[in-house]
Amino acid sequence: MLCDAHVHLTDTEYSPYIDHVVTSLRAMGIVACSVTVDTATTLKSFALFDSARDVIKQFVGIHPEFAATEDFQKFSKVFKDNIGAIDGVGEIGLDGTYEAERGVAYEKQKQVFHAMLALAESADKPVSIHSRRALDDVLEMLPSYHIKSALLHWFAGSKKQLARSMDMGLYVSYGPALVYSDDKKVMLKNTRKDRFLVETDGPVRYSHCFENRPALPTSFLASVVASAAATLGLAYDEAAGMLQSNSGSFLSQQL
Ligand SMILES: [Zn+2]
Repeated sequence: MLCDAHVHLTDTEYSPYIDHVVTSLRAMGIVACSVTVDTATTLKSFALFDSARDVIKQFVGIHPEFAATEDFQKFSKVFKDNIGAIDGVGEIGLDGTYEAERGVAYEKQKQVFHAMLALAESADKPVSIHSRRALDDVLEMLPSYHIKSALLHWFAGSKKQLARSMDMGLYVSYGPALVYSDDKKVMLKNTRKDRFLVETDGPVRYSHCFENRPALPTSFLASVVASAAATLGLAYDEAAGMLQSNSGSFLSQQL
């Protein structure tokens, strides 16, 4: 059983064939942590995946990109009304590029991230965090909350930040770029063996052997696992077993 720790299955990119994706996940024995970005995608997630919880773990949240435009009260009500269907909180976090590039004030992102962490704490759920160009601030904010488990998805920090994240007991995930990036391989070698996960972040498109097609757990994840195994000098099955155990611990669920 493989687990894609972070993928946007409510994205419209997948709409024409989402039923096929769910069927394929089941057939291939892959679990996907599907994250949302706002209230609309959260409602879409419940409608699509409440009946597929064996293979889709529903993470719901307000992404920093939408921190200024989403109504937190509205999201919070939807969250509480559907708490039984929710496996985690995400995608949440901070992005140091959005204020300059998309006009989303950094202070507003922080405010929403605080609110999301408080929600995760009160619901006792794991979180999936976006931390591009904002990792130090994320690491600063996290200890104020008792979060069950936290994933720094698409880990892109420095070795020093990685060491600090490991000391804090955080999980980090690596995606398809691991297959062609030597920098990512070095980071993986420095990651605690019980704290790393794999993800696709689909529908993100990756270059090289992935030919800029939208990422899917069913077609991309095995390559990432194979690359992780080779990087760590393990057999594929050993790496897959390690990842299954790590994913189960992150989710506090038997996979
Ligand atoms: Zn994402």
